[in-house]
Amino acid sequence: MRRSRKPVHQCYQCLLNLGDHCWVYDYPRGQWSGHKRCPGFENEEVYAAFRLWRKQPAVKSRRELRREFFRGRRRRRPPGDRPRGR
Ligand code: SF4
Repeated sequence: MRRSRKPVHQCYQCLLNLGDHCWVYDYPRGQWSGHKRCPGFENEEVYAAFRLWRKQPAVKSRRELRREFFRGRRRRRPPGDRPRGR
């Protein structure tokens, strides 16, 4: 059976719920089903680590840098400026 990385309904209010996956656990459903409550839910130690991680500067990949470069080069026509021949 394939294990989903997607957080479950109980994760709704958790800070570590990143929408399509959990910051800590690969299998959020298993965290809730094996225990009465997920060990990461409202755990201040884990939340502090997550906040620290979020403050770190983001390192851009080569792909992101390239995309940013080419988006910056895109020429924008001023309003009223039409291409020749029309
Ligand atoms: S830490 Fe637990 S409650 Fe929070 S998103 Fe992950 S699995 Fe859900």
